[in-house]
Amino acid sequence: MQPTPVKRPTCLRCLRPQRSCICGWITPIEHAADLLILQHPLEVGNAKGSVRLLQLSLARSEVLVGEVFAQQAMQALLQTPGARYTILLYPDSPEDQGLNLAPPQQLEQARLLDPSQVRLIVLDGTWRKSRKMLYLNPLLQQLPRLSLRDTPASRYLIRKAHSPGQLSTLEATCYALMQLEQNEEKYQPLLTAFSGFVGQQLVYEKR
Ligand SMILES: [Zn+2]
Repeated sequence: MQPTPVKRPTCLRCLRPQRSCICGWITPIEHAADLLILQHPLEVGNAKGSVRLLQLSLARSEVLVGEVFAQQAMQALLQTPGARYTILLYPDSPEDQGLNLAPPQQLEQARLLDPSQVRLIVLDGTWRKSRKMLYLNPLLQQLPRLSLRDTPASRYLIRKAHSPGQLSTLEATCYALMQLEQNEEKYQPLLTAFSGFVGQQLVYEKR
């Protein structure tokens, strides 16, 4: 008789193999702004990705997977009646000048004063892929863009494709929320948990 193949037990919460479950790092934080993460398909199932931990920690977050989003669906998403003020987290980079991006709408500082009226869109992909997503989705190019100020060095040591100065999606999102809510303390526990997650990944890599 053939032995039944052993199925690796999966954690039903984080959907990872139980031996590398990240649920211990989940750090729920009451955040005001809604969060929409547009995840590049290559990031799905990436064990080193930070979005799963982010999504499990922030209740008002949603993940959509894709590289090109149907214009109609995106329009509907951005123009829901009574919708929040939607902004895109994306750095101001001189290298993007060659992309011929539409100039983003001016950020209305007044509308940012109430983060509970804001929806923040974050692109999850390598730097190159995020750029491509912006390039391929004209509606995203039109959004007011928020760029981060004075961010500390990344704690993200586990991704080779990571360019210097680039933060993980989790870190970038936490810093953006800190900036919007003008509260530096609130997101520190999640950043600390993220360091623990990174440490755990490094241990698995050495095995
Ligand atoms: Zn788990």
